[in-house]
Amino acid sequence: MEAGIVGLPNVGKSTLFNALTSAGIASENYPFCTIEPNVGAVPVPDSRLDVIQGYIKTQKVIPAILQLVDIAGIVRGASEGEGLGNKFLTHIRNVDAILHAVRCFEDGDITHVDGSVDPLRDIETIDTELMLADLQSVESMLDKAKRTARTGDKDAKRRVGLLEQCHALLADGKAVRGIQLEDPADQKEMASFQLLTAKRVLYVANVEEDDLKGEGELVQRVRKHAEAEGSEVVPVCARLEAELSELDADDRAELLESVGLEEPALALLARAAYRVLGLQSYFTAGEKEVRAWTVPIGATAPQAAGVIHTDFERGFIRAEVYSVDDLTELKSEKAIRDAGKMRVEGKSYTMHDGDVCHFLFNV
Ligand code: GDP
Repeated sequence: MEAGIVGLPNVGKSTLFNALTSAGIASENYPFCTIEPNVGAVPVPDSRLDVIQGYIKTQKVIPAILQLVDIAGIVRGASEGEGLGNKFLTHIRNVDAILHAVRCFEDGDITHVDGSVDPLRDIETIDTELMLADLQSVESMLDKAKRTARTGDKDAKRRVGLLEQCHALLADGKAVRGIQLEDPADQKEMASFQLLTAKRVLYVANVEEDDLKGEGELVQRVRKHAEAEGSEVVPVCARLEAELSELDADDRAELLESVGLEEPALALLARAAYRVLGLQSYFTAGEKEVRAWTVPIGATAPQAAGVIHTDFERGFIRAEVYSVDDLTELKSEKAIRDAGKMRVEGKSYTMHDGDVCHFLFNV
């Protein structure tokens, strides 16, 4: 899973990105300091991996990975060439989700590009740039598709129909993620457009240290906005996260406790991202490795196997499945088998969050 962090300059994107990835890139009080996108991979915290490891002896534990991209350069007028112009587009097209960072901290020393702290105005500014950028791509794709459609090409006709729907929404100032498509062929075509406003958004409210629960008025406003979009807001203090990322485990635990937090923001963000994106985890567990894999909710067993290797999906025969809870209760795979809880599932099985699987397949 790859997520791009967007937001206006000076809202704390780089601070957050650095804290999450501990990559140590430059973060200065300067609008265009992050010129090239910075990419970092972070492990998704999942306490169930520790549970499994407690019962199954293994050589290594591999968590799921969240790839983060710090996307700089979106300012008012970016789609018209302001700031870094459209350069951000190339880095944002490929991400699965957008982490939209908004400034909810007041700090007279940190300039705001629009002169005052107003998260909803900021969200609108970014959304407008994303919509304008999409409008440009849609118009150029639509021209091309119309020309091809004139030759009688069926796929091109489908594209024209979809692009016209997108155009109507964007011209009306709306994101295209609201379009509901039933036909898988339409869905596939739509995905191929790689539109920015088709991506799911999770809001990250960069708060003061005294509002870590996000109860302040500014965060409440963002929350209301997010909920109306079917999304969520995660309150995070980027500066505190930066501090936490520099400490060893003991000091980190102490600092977390002193500010009343149970875990660093990464865990909260990862869980919220899974919810907003409709993702869940399953596990494989053996002597060589215990590993978490990410699949969409509703994925079938062969699709889940396909995340490991495409050959596994093609050659899928069946899966042996139990849950992390079964393991906690019965303490070994043998005991699970003896208790008749090792289920044999076929091609039509829909995966559950927390399944532990052994796949059988032909190669
Ligand atoms: P970006 O332009 O969005 O990447 O923003 P930066 O991460 O470079 O942050 C801009 C400035 O805001 C830096 O001076 C940060 O130290 C400061 N900053 C970031 N997060 C916070 C925060 O939670 N509270 C306060 N007071 N300042 C912050």
